[in-house]
Amino acid sequence: MDYMYAPWRGEYINNKEKGCPFCNIVNNSSKDEEHHVLYRTKNCFLVMNKYPYNPGHLMVVPNLHKDSIEDLSSEVWLEMSTLVQKTVKLLKEKLGANGVNIGMNLGECAGASIAEHVHFHIVPRWRKDTNFITTIASTRVYSTDFEKLYIKLRDLFLHVE
Ligand SMILES: [Zn+2]
Repeated sequence: MDYMYAPWRGEYINNKEKGCPFCNIVNNSSKDEEHHVLYRTKNCFLVMNKYPYNPGHLMVVPNLHKDSIEDLSSEVWLEMSTLVQKTVKLLKEKLGANGVNIGMNLGECAGASIAEHVHFHIVPRWRKDTNFITTIASTRVYSTDFEKLYIKLRDLFLHVE
């Protein structure tokens, strides 16, 4: 990772008293736009990370509030994996990502900021000299770019099978 120092992640940590942010998304589907949800399946959803390592940093999250992947059913695990695959494909084909980091931080000592609710991180990567996203990369703290990227990604996911 290029961006190990991530001060913007502090906001999640400071908001912990409001409960689990992922369960809040699960329970408020009418606020998907406000929460930057891109896609929902039966048992999981895809959402933009508000405190990204890189523009287009997304997360695949199960609806169930579990702190251990071994507590998820095979059905849910497979559904999450399938959504990760679709997301990687879309990031490469439609946003021109040259590479993608995927992974999970299981437990606080492994770096999870929301350890109580497991989630996949999907971080697209670009070589320095490629497409429009490089421009966004240098200005990622501005919310207008974040909103533009949300609209673009959401539109792309409308056409995902
Ligand atoms: Zn939760």
